[in-house]
Amino acid sequence: MDPEPYKNFINGEWVEGRSGDVLEDRNPADTRELIGIFQRSGARDVEDAVAAAECAYRSWRLTPAPRRAEILFRAARMLQDRKEELARDMTREMGKVLLESRGDVQEAIDMAYYMAGEGRRLYGQTTPSELPNKFAMSVRMPVGVCGLITPWNFPMAIPSWKILPALVCGNTVVIKPAEDTPLSCYHFVKIVSEAGLPRGVLNLVAGTGPDAGEPLVTHPAVRLVSFTGSTEVGRRVAELCAPVFKHSNLEMGGKNVLMVMEDADLELAVDGAVWGGFGTTGQRCTAASRVIVQKKLYKEFVEMLVERAEALKVGNGLDPNVQVGPLINRDQLNRVQQYVQIGINEGARLMCGGHAIDHGQYACGFFHEATVFSEVSPKMRIAREEIFGPVVSVIPCDDLESAIEIGNGVRYGLSAAIYTRDVNKAFTAMRDMYTGIFYVNASTIGAEIHLPFGGTKDTGNGHREAGTAALDVFSEWKSIYVDYSGRLQRAQIDTFSP
Ligand code: NAD
Repeated sequence: MDPEPYKNFINGEWVEGRSGDVLEDRNPADTRELIGIFQRSGARDVEDAVAAAECAYRSWRLTPAPRRAEILFRAARMLQDRKEELARDMTREMGKVLLESRGDVQEAIDMAYYMAGEGRRLYGQTTPSELPNKFAMSVRMPVGVCGLITPWNFPMAIPSWKILPALVCGNTVVIKPAEDTPLSCYHFVKIVSEAGLPRGVLNLVAGTGPDAGEPLVTHPAVRLVSFTGSTEVGRRVAELCAPVFKHSNLEMGGKNVLMVMEDADLELAVDGAVWGGFGTTGQRCTAASRVIVQKKLYKEFVEMLVERAEALKVGNGLDPNVQVGPLINRDQLNRVQQYVQIGINEGARLMCGGHAIDHGQYACGFFHEATVFSEVSPKMRIAREEIFGPVVSVIPCDDLESAIEIGNGVRYGLSAAIYTRDVNKAFTAMRDMYTGIFYVNASTIGAEIHLPFGGTKDTGNGHREAGTAALDVFSEWKSIYVDYSGRLQRAQIDTFSP
């Protein structure tokens, strides 16, 4: 018998979608396991959720920020208490290995503590006025109802990056999680709500992008859309927001680069390439899918990387010996296989992997071997396009300048890394790589929540998530002038002489 469907959360209540249609959430390591059934929401559900958020906004924006923050502190503790159980459910629905799912939940915990702390800061400025007896300051004000749309690869961390700063700033929220991983977002919304949120402040509608995502983006009462996902869908979101100048915060694709200079610590660089390229089965927006290696080290580096990639154990992420879980779904597995073929056709050399794994215990999952291509040229599609799977392209280069040129030569600009012992090279790359995130002697993945997160070019539209940068997304500045001179004073016109 099918389990009871999970419901939407609207105005403090768990409710069925109006159409009665549902979506299945299945384990990508073994699709015979049904994780849950979720509502396939449509425009009418979105309208109900936005109406609840609009109503709740009236009092939530006036709730003192430190009081709002206390709820987030409670939520952080509740998440901490349930970390293991939440991580296990995440591995079952998303596939990443348990160690990484724990990290995903931990990111949400860290963000909850961090944003709770912001409740007693949310700093503005006080600054001298150019006129006497006049006071000048700036304060943050909430934006209103926020529509949040999230992907499946960080199913709790990314919702937390959006929900928590939105709430502490005094906004109310409607979130639509990815259709492949609604359970982790469901758990998160339930916990944050049970920590004491008033009804209507946080609402969840499950469903697909076209059915539920678009109505959320276009709803006139939604003042801000924060989206993380593919560049193609992000562009669509931006186009829908543009006619009414709706704020859109877009975090999109990546084609990140790890650069290995000839003076690098080779073992360390290989460690970084393995972790960055195959961690989360390559399904991170910051994955190290390109590795550029200076020619002197190239052959040795490729040999070491191939040896390590071949040794990686692929399988169900709940098995503690497994290092690489499945891909999220059949489409994603097909996409990886297509790119492997594209790489071969383009003349790159397939050094290891290259096949789906579908025998025996793998038969009902979306598994793929860790794959390395060498002799990759920067013009090849496998060196330019986001694959989002366990495929690493190793590109030879002459020197630092050419590494930087190749590194910057793609449409994306999320994360880059350099391995070198030369401080001059490190600082040159730090200055010249046009990416939102940069690492020295560490891989392209592993952002910490108190620094800005996001990218340039086709990765983002100028905003950053996490850290205090997230507050700039979820609040608007108001500059306030208080004139206590008792007379008309004209800025830029009246001069003051002591
Ligand atoms: P996706 O773009 O297919 O979907 C993302 C979300 O958008 C989902 O919730 C989906 O339902 C929704 N959506 C789809 N069509 C929509 C529409 N027309 N209107 C409104 N919403 C719609 O992305 P995905 O496959 O879930 O995630 C993988 C992508 O996310 C990769 O490109 C990856 O690089 C990117 N990503 C980026 C970051 C970052 O911070 N830069 C982080 C994680 C993932």
